[in-house]
Amino acid sequence: MCKVIAVCNQKGGVAKTTTTVNLGIGLARHGQRVLLVDNDAQGSLTSSLGFQEPDLIEYTLSTVMGKIIKEETIDPEKGILHHQEGVDLMPGNIELSGMELTLVSVMSREYVLTEYIEKVKEKYDWILIDCGPSLGMVTINALAAADSVLVPVQVGYLPAKGLEQLIKTIRKVIKQKINHDLKIEGILLTMVDGRTNYSKEIIGLIEEAYENNVRIFDKQIPMSVRVAECSALGMSIYKNDPKGKAALGYESLTKEIMANSMNGGEH
Ligand code: ADP
Ligand code: MG
Repeated sequence: MCKVIAVCNQKGGVAKTTTTVNLGIGLARHGQRVLLVDNDAQGSLTSSLGFQEPDLIEYTLSTVMGKIIKEETIDPEKGILHHQEGVDLMPGNIELSGMELTLVSVMSREYVLTEYIEKVKEKYDWILIDCGPSLGMVTINALAAADSVLVPVQVGYLPAKGLEQLIKTIRKVIKQKINHDLKIEGILLTMVDGRTNYSKEIIGLIEEAYENNVRIFDKQIPMSVRVAECSALGMSIYKNDPKGKAALGYESLTKEIMANSMNGGEH
């Protein structure tokens, strides 16, 4: 059984891509078969994994989606790249920004990515979809294809309207109209600065706001320059700083998500 997780937050710079890389490679380190999908026109996931010029890659996620829209047959293995730390990647690039417009006039426009995921699913235990910073059609496609959504947030951003908006959209629009089975995997606090001590208070507020209906992962990911270096190096935090707190944080997240999937439940 393959589990599909969309890593989503309409705000940019909250560590969606970083989390996709390090959760994905974390799972691969536990012997899991993992596909990462770059669903962001910026192609940051693709470049973070060392494929430095995403826009020059010919066959990408938008190529696949285009073929599905035109009802052409696709070879599910075509275009998949391999990273040395054991994960596969379906790259994405600038062409996804055109897809946003293309999708508008397509029948079943929410489910184009779902069709692709269905075709590759049997080869993987986990598929992680790295979303871009919007709640447009391309992101909706990720939420439609996913079993659950993982929301990385910066602590300072937690009480802001954006998160509430996102949770509301997931519950009211996506779950009711597009993907009834979509679960919220949890909220991951990222780039936590150890010097500020107000995160506990904010976590309390969040728990109150969602009536303990949304899991907040036990481990937070600390701010670390070693994490920031990773994307330029094309490697995970496990390789760049294996003993650091950020690696331990992502390892703990990986284990928590594996355990949750065994329990099969939403929080
Ligand atoms: P998003 O995908 O949400 O836009 P990214 O994963 O690209 O966010 O992260 C935004 C920036 O913050 C990147 O430069 C990344 O290297 C950096 N970053 C992410 N996590 C951390 C962290 N724990 N500590 C320091 N820098 C981080
Ligand atoms: Mg990103």
